[in-house]
Amino acid sequence: MVEKVEKIWMNGELVAWDAAQVHVLTHTLHYGLGVFEGIRCYKRSDGKSAVFRLQEHIERLFESAKTADIVLPYSQAQLEAAVLDTIRANKLAECYVRPLAYVAAGSMGIYVRDNPIHVIVATWRWGAYLGDEGMAKGIRAKVSSYSRPGVNIAMTKAKIVGGYVNSILAKREVVGSGYDEAIMLDPQGYVAEASGENIFVVRKGRVFTPPSGASVLAGITRDAVLTLCKELGISAEERMVSRDELYNADEVFFTGTAAEITPVREVDNRKVGSGSRGPITQRIQERFFQIVRGGGGEATHSEWLSFL
Ligand code: PMP
Repeated sequence: MVEKVEKIWMNGELVAWDAAQVHVLTHTLHYGLGVFEGIRCYKRSDGKSAVFRLQEHIERLFESAKTADIVLPYSQAQLEAAVLDTIRANKLAECYVRPLAYVAAGSMGIYVRDNPIHVIVATWRWGAYLGDEGMAKGIRAKVSSYSRPGVNIAMTKAKIVGGYVNSILAKREVVGSGYDEAIMLDPQGYVAEASGENIFVVRKGRVFTPPSGASVLAGITRDAVLTLCKELGISAEERMVSRDELYNADEVFFTGTAAEITPVREVDNRKVGSGSRGPITQRIQERFFQIVRGGGGEATHSEWLSFL
């Protein structure tokens, strides 16, 4: 359960956690048109805290809003400040941050244009999304029977509230069968992404991930990993990945703000590589945590960090 903190930023003000309520006729609650982000703030080895790629997350929130055809009543700078203010107000050294823009109550029905757009920023403590053991040893994934929507169905480039029903169905299906995470294919059968993560495959020392033009979210962690691979001298390529490539991969891993870099040790009851975290996954994971938490290494990627 989410552990309550003091404040939530709501429409320009920091309000008490319990006061951040919505009306039952909130349009988004009925029809799913709303957009959100997931961001992490890390406590660093020197004791300072920094938000990872804040600007890119807020930029994506605006891109999601444009795709969803809703206009946010704040600027990007205002929402970046709102994120930092909310973390500070809650005295959190490390947390997950959830900005959400939704269509508030007013008119009902599908064609509503004049309801106000409300924006909140909530923060809470959140450890490893797929578990600490999963981070070290890898998790068990299964291809879901639910497909990711095709590129002209539900706009997978945008983090739209209603889009996550598809993810929830897939996740419930595979967790209900004893697995940890769902891998989703596109309608043609190519590998798209996991229920809330992008997917990477390693074979013979080379790293692959489905291209951003596929039915995937253009993940910010995915982008960071592609950059880090280049810097580490690991060949990384964006290209379509087929289901059987997962079965003969040397390594598979997921990337996401919540899941960070999570190794996958099993896909569809087939052991991936040696059946534990692979060496390339480990190198990328270590480099990622070095950057977000500080503590060694040369390139700090300070442009990815917004200090509190
Ligand atoms: N795909 C989906 C469907 C997601 O919800 C997420 C989480 N935002 C990701 C991929 C990973 O994106 P990011 O690295 O930007 O968190």
